[in-house]
Amino acid sequence: MAKFYLGVDLGGTQIKIAVVDDKAVIMEEFVMDTDIQVKPIKIIKDIVSKIKNMKYYKNVKTIGIGIAGDVDSVKGVLRFSPNLPNWKNVQLKKEMEKLTNKKIFVDNDANTACVGAYWLDLEGKATNIVCVTLGTGVGGGMILNKKLYTGTSGTAGEIGHITVEPNGNKCNCGNKGCAETYIGAKYLVKRALHLMREHNSYNILKLAGNDKCKITPQILSLAASKGDEVAKIVWAEAGEKLAILLADIINFINPDHIVLCGGISKACNAFYKPVYKQIKQRAFKSAVDSCQIIVSKYTNKLGVAGAAMLAKN
Ligand SMILES: [Zn+2]
Repeated sequence: MAKFYLGVDLGGTQIKIAVVDDKAVIMEEFVMDTDIQVKPIKIIKDIVSKIKNMKYYKNVKTIGIGIAGDVDSVKGVLRFSPNLPNWKNVQLKKEMEKLTNKKIFVDNDANTACVGAYWLDLEGKATNIVCVTLGTGVGGGMILNKKLYTGTSGTAGEIGHITVEPNGNKCNCGNKGCAETYIGAKYLVKRALHLMREHNSYNILKLAGNDKCKITPQILSLAASKGDEVAKIVWAEAGEKLAILLADIINFINPDHIVLCGGISKACNAFYKPVYKQIKQRAFKSAVDSCQIIVSKYTNKLGVAGAAMLAKN
């Protein structure tokens, strides 16, 4: 009987579940909404009852769970999650193992996304990779010598909280000038609103149907590709910060690949062109030459496929 692996991507709005084969090819998948009001154990029981009804469940050897938040991956405990306010010190591994009789692996979603990118985008053929998630927040994970590296206390890869501006924007983590406060989706929109007023230029607002709440990084990309000056400035500024961050990563890790994923990774050329140019100016030539920077083709599947492959390895 073929052996499969099951992944759960537990997010604040959706729970994605997939069964994959040993090459991370998705055999079966489904999505359910996350009810953040109910107790964690209720959600855990819901997940288990769903997965037990899956066609390939009988072939599933192990289960991996990726979750946004502070995870103790050794004990399989979610210490806390900004997206799941009721989840504090939840014994995810213990509870799930009790209900399924299968071995459970738990890690944070940036790490599972990294494992997903390693298998889906790079087909398991790379050696040292760094995955950078560009979305509401900026996260990261790394695989070194073909193994997920999580650090001493499990916090390795907090790329979004590397300082890129010594006295810069205040960050939720308590630091000032974190990369996330310059490249994260919320900041990009805030910066665009500020610059629109300063330049008295409102093309972006028009593209958002004259509703400033509807301005998204996608709208900013569209505006920049139509030549809007404000949008071009927003992307140029964010691009400079991303270039600093990636050049640091390249010098420090010397990875063979950097995989960019998340909603903002699909941004326009106005964002990426200067990024690549500045990386070349900032990082060591040999390290830049041996590193391929790619945008993931599987952004929405990385977390769930990576969680499943975490369970395989
Ligand atoms: Zn921070």
